[in-house]
Amino acid sequence: MADDYLMFHRPSLGPEEERAVVEVLRSGWITTGPRTKEFERVFAAYRGVAHAVGVNSCTAALHLALVALGIGPGDEVVTSPITFASTANVVVHTGAVPVFCDVQDDTLNMDPEALRRALTPRTRAVIAVHFAGHPCDMDEILSVAGERGAPVIEDAAHAVEAEYKGRPTGSLARAAAFSFYATKNITTGEGGMLVTDDDDLAQRAALLALHGISRDAWKRYGAEGYRHWDTVAAGYKYNMFDIQAAIGLEQLKKVGRFWASRKHLVERYDAGLAGLRGLRPLARRPYVTASYHLYPVRVTAAAGLSRDDFIAALNRRSIGVGVHFRPVHLHPFYREQFGFGPGLCPVAEEAGEQLVSLPLFPDMTDAEVDRVVGACREILAAGA
Ligand SMILES: *Cc1c(COP(=O)(O)O)cnc(C)c1O
Repeated sequence: MADDYLMFHRPSLGPEEERAVVEVLRSGWITTGPRTKEFERVFAAYRGVAHAVGVNSCTAALHLALVALGIGPGDEVVTSPITFASTANVVVHTGAVPVFCDVQDDTLNMDPEALRRALTPRTRAVIAVHFAGHPCDMDEILSVAGERGAPVIEDAAHAVEAEYKGRPTGSLARAAAFSFYATKNITTGEGGMLVTDDDDLAQRAALLALHGISRDAWKRYGAEGYRHWDTVAAGYKYNMFDIQAAIGLEQLKKVGRFWASRKHLVERYDAGLAGLRGLRPLARRPYVTASYHLYPVRVTAAAGLSRDDFIAALNRRSIGVGVHFRPVHLHPFYREQFGFGPGLCPVAEEAGEQLVSLPLFPDMTDAEVDRVVGACREILAAGA
């Protein structure tokens, strides 16, 4: 890698996280325990929800939400295809069938009208993905899904700080899943959180997250002495552990600073790329507070080169990028297993050919944004 290589993302971890990890290591209790319980409590308060269940990924949180809602074979779960593989994979894991509905052209979030067309008598849940950290049009989605009695789950992997009409993500639907993966807005390396106001769902998810063994089983080697435990469900090994939670607690203290920094950088991108023919940014609705997780742009026909050539040209200039996302339904597994193909979600499919995410992370400098902007302008002017 060249010295001046600009990474697409770099996590912001400091001495606070280092100290917190060392403290856990020295405590003698490294798995699920007091730090995890504290992170759950603080995170639930942060999102204004009654319950948070710490897990080892957002994928696990999504899967648990579906299982706890009783979704299984014969059911359908609707989501949008502009998302990460796991949003749909977890549906397959339950034995249900994933159904894809198209997205809005300007935000690439689930289109409520397309959702209406995707619903069938078998629809048992809807997973709404807050793409790039911009909340979905939840009032419309909840109303359409509600007509079928289908609960909505927020895939809030990108949206830890976001708000919709003044209300925090995580509190907008039946349950929500957050990600603390290395590239997400706050990170524990790997990790996730399931949040909900539904007492039963929370209890069931917490049970299933740790093998389905009776509650508070994490205390079974604690100071209160040995206690028998029972297996009451065939659960999973999805629990968050205290090393992760210790990092998460420190990251959560910095979440506002990280957010403000990315917002500033996004505004600098907006200004720098304004009016540039061939690059189309996403829209932001006036009634949301975005979390500014990604800076996706669309390389349109006016650019005179393909998205992939545009990426290659940025890479030649030592600039790293991501692609969020090529539509899930067009990936080989989904084509082969379910017979999905082009034409199912035309808006998502067109976007999927055009999307590229420019570098964005809290410690990025103004000069680095300017360098990316300059490269974009140069590439579009030269067509290479
Ligand atoms: C990252 C991501 C996930 C999965 O998160 P993990 O914590 O890695 O399991 C789910 N949905 C979306 C939209 C994501 O970007």
